[in-house]
Amino acid sequence: MLALRKIEASPGLALLDTPEPDTVSGTDVLIAVEAVGICGSDLHVDDWSAGYDFMVPLLPVTLGHEFAGRVIAVGPQVASVKVGQRVTAWPSAPCGVCHACKTGTPQNCSDKQTVGLYRNGAFAAKVLARETGVFELPESVDFELGALAEPLCVGARAVRVAEVRPGQKVVVLGPGSIGQAIAIFARQAGAHSVAIAGHDDAPRLEVLSQMGFDESFDLARPGGRDDLLARCAGADIVFEASGHASSIADALELLAMEGTVVLTGIHAEQASLDLLQVVRRKLQIRGSHGTRREDWTHVLHTLAHFGEAIRPMITHRLPLSRALEGFELARTRNASKVILLPQPKETQS
Ligand SMILES: [Zn+2]
Ligand SMILES: [Zn+2]
Repeated sequence: MLALRKIEASPGLALLDTPEPDTVSGTDVLIAVEAVGICGSDLHVDDWSAGYDFMVPLLPVTLGHEFAGRVIAVGPQVASVKVGQRVTAWPSAPCGVCHACKTGTPQNCSDKQTVGLYRNGAFAAKVLARETGVFELPESVDFELGALAEPLCVGARAVRVAEVRPGQKVVVLGPGSIGQAIAIFARQAGAHSVAIAGHDDAPRLEVLSQMGFDESFDLARPGGRDDLLARCAGADIVFEASGHASSIADALELLAMEGTVVLTGIHAEQASLDLLQVVRRKLQIRGSHGTRREDWTHVLHTLAHFGEAIRPMITHRLPLSRALEGFELARTRNASKVILLPQPKETQS
């Protein structure tokens, strides 16, 4: 089957023919992938920017961790998932036996074997996932919306970490899919205002506008940053979802006394921080990464009820054979979420 893979520890990906998974063992579930999203982290792995050295001993690995599809086989120990079910999957589903799993923090599992990073992912016609991470799609959620569940969960988790409360002023730095998901769940949590800033990001800010977020700033425009700082100063919560170290200084400057910044971007560089400002203004700095089981339940419920309001996040749909074109659209920020369709057209449903 065709698969988009990281082959070696240098920039680039390869789209090539690979063997299909032949056995489904233990608690694994085999899923025919119907839709899979290109994530910002996939671009980092493609570029081979800092932070992915853990993949070196595992290469080659098929990427793709934001997916939905149909169950076509289950391992002998699988009890809760049935062949034929329409599903999505938590890519870093817990092992259930390590210390973190046994002490009630499965999100910190030391053997999570994330699909699409540690084990072969969903940029292929078939993918294996752990039963513990497989979630059935509600009837009203189609495959492409199902493929949004993972990035939506990452945003929903960041909003939980931030403890967004009704009436608060929220700013999101970075208008990519995670920034968009944060905006959706901050509004759902009752934020009074949600402003979003991008950098030469018209297509992605347009997606936010389609979802009802009109307070946006393009920092690449002359005066854009001054405008943001003038109009959004005194924010209760700022999310850093751009992955640019320089953006953290803006985040701190925007915060009100005792405000909270939550970092979710994947930062390849180190940042320098004005710690005196952090102390005197009693600012909180938090990190959010990945998801928890309860986020999946929450997000699938949200998709079932508000899926059409969220669908504008998807701007491009391409067959897997055009994956590299999809990566280019995402890299140049001409696309928001690009969904790849791995099944031959006649079998897509
Ligand atoms: Zn992702
Ligand atoms: Zn574990």
